[in-house]
Amino acid sequence: MDITIAPSPIQQIHDERPINKGVQLFIKRDELLHAEVQGNKWRKLKYNLQEAKKQGHSQLLTFGGAWSNHIYATAAAGNLFGFKTIGVIRGEEPKELSDTLRFALLKGMKLHYLNRDEYKRKYDESLIQALKDKYGDFYVVPEGGTNHYALQGVAEIIDELDLDFDYLCTAVGTGGTLAGLVAGLKGEKQILGFSSLKGEDGLTHEVDRMVLQYAGGVYSNFSINFQYHFGGYAKVKPELIDFIKNFKAKYNIQLEPVYTGKMMYGIFDLVSKGSFPSGTRIVALHTGGLQGLAGYRELMID
Ligand SMILES: *Cc1c(COP(=O)(O)O)cnc(C)c1O
Repeated sequence: MDITIAPSPIQQIHDERPINKGVQLFIKRDELLHAEVQGNKWRKLKYNLQEAKKQGHSQLLTFGGAWSNHIYATAAAGNLFGFKTIGVIRGEEPKELSDTLRFALLKGMKLHYLNRDEYKRKYDESLIQALKDKYGDFYVVPEGGTNHYALQGVAEIIDELDLDFDYLCTAVGTGGTLAGLVAGLKGEKQILGFSSLKGEDGLTHEVDRMVLQYAGGVYSNFSINFQYHFGGYAKVKPELIDFIKNFKAKYNIQLEPVYTGKMMYGIFDLVSKGSFPSGTRIVALHTGGLQGLAGYRELMID
């Protein structure tokens, strides 16, 4: 079976804030790749699924929390491309399932809960073997989907950018997406990541390590900005929610508060502070994740 999804569109954001600074802003709309298998989670899964097929697997196993975009995407992609799926979920089985877990079950994913201590040892051979005894053989996709094949899939985005630009921006969690873009650009242009998490914690080194392992070299044309995490992972502030609502009202493009909203807020703020010289062309990658909005229902609806 052909494991592909058609490329996503790219469009210009005609907003007076960048225009007044002489900056052109574009958005690569990977949230439109597929209704359920969106954004960077699809990019990271694509070659993992091809590899699983190649190795003769019919079942995928992966890991994540109750609101994980990766769990959601794996359940949907497995269903779409004919794989059975197992989601190993961090924490005890909740009394009320999150929308993400309910969706995963609907797509046929089996859920296996591990308490937080067990979850820390999730890659231990003994645990993997116990899971194989219970569910049968499977292909392991790591937590968040980040591995060698993930970088390969993300790097393909570069081939789809048929316009001239100076900066490519992305939201950053594990840094796998950023690493894939760095590997794809091979030293060309500037890549700017916006961290959704508070701490640096060696993230830049981790990106270097992933790029080196995948592309065989290290590139210095990227940086990670830690100024727009809004208090940390999945934390929000009213000005972020307002920004997301305003962006949707003006451009009919939905952002979400965990990743893409923080990145876009950061881009607009840096532009307004004059961080980019006049004439700069910026491409912002919409990494998807819109299913996670369900967790912010009260905040996002007026
Ligand atoms: C998972 C995710 C990210 C973070 O990607 P990493 O490769 O872990 O850095 C960014 N944006 C969205 C929408 C995501 O779901």
